[in-house]
Amino acid sequence: MRKQLDVLEGLAASGAGIGPGPYIAGGSEPTLGDCTLLPTAIFIDHMLPKFSNDPSAVATAVFGPAVQKWFSYMTEQDPVGVRVAREVKGGLEQWEGKGRWDAILGAGLRDAAPATLFDGILSKAVPSEVVFEDEVCLAFRDISPAGPVHVLVIPKQREGLTQLKFAQEDHQSVLGHLLLAAAKVAAQEGLEDGYRVVINDGEAAAQSVFHLHVHVIGGRKMTWPPG
Ligand code: AMP
Repeated sequence: MRKQLDVLEGLAASGAGIGPGPYIAGGSEPTLGDCTLLPTAIFIDHMLPKFSNDPSAVATAVFGPAVQKWFSYMTEQDPVGVRVAREVKGGLEQWEGKGRWDAILGAGLRDAAPATLFDGILSKAVPSEVVFEDEVCLAFRDISPAGPVHVLVIPKQREGLTQLKFAQEDHQSVLGHLLLAAAKVAAQEGLEDGYRVVINDGEAAAQSVFHLHVHVIGGRKMTWPPG
């Protein structure tokens, strides 16, 4: 999206040199370009900041200066543009009110939760003993093991999964991936006789780090029910 906006900025900036008018190609009358671009630009202006954890930083720079000048003119002064902007924004706000974006991975600022210790482990700022890693997850030894083997498997991108209870449809693949990785880790650690896979979900369940993680514990006889 950003690359496309850069292309658009280049075109708008060169268009501005063609004529002194306020429209996208520098003319004094709107063109097909203005009419087709405006609804999309309104959508981009509304949506792009949602894909950042720092909306204020992005909101000020959704468009480059030439496109921003055009966008402001279209949405604040051009009579048809003002009407289109009102209609499109109205629609987007209604969707917003119904939580339309909440299930879209990466949108809706749904992971503005504070960073955790596991971010430090992922960035290697906090040392850990990694036993398995792929593009989706990292598995490392628990610092305070509850058995001879105790490994934590975490998603590299938290994407709102501070807790299992926040899981949405589009987390299905990462959740399945974590369980498969847990089984791989158990096999790698030689836990043929059995092992326990645990997710503590919430403080009442003894969750202390709010970045979803799967405990893989083994190497000793387990009892049931757990404490
Ligand atoms: P939970 O209580 O389910 O949130 O699990 C968090 C786990 O992270 C606990 O079992 C802790 O022992 C473990 N833990 C805390 N700090 C570290 C660390 N620096 N390296 C590895 N594991 C850790």
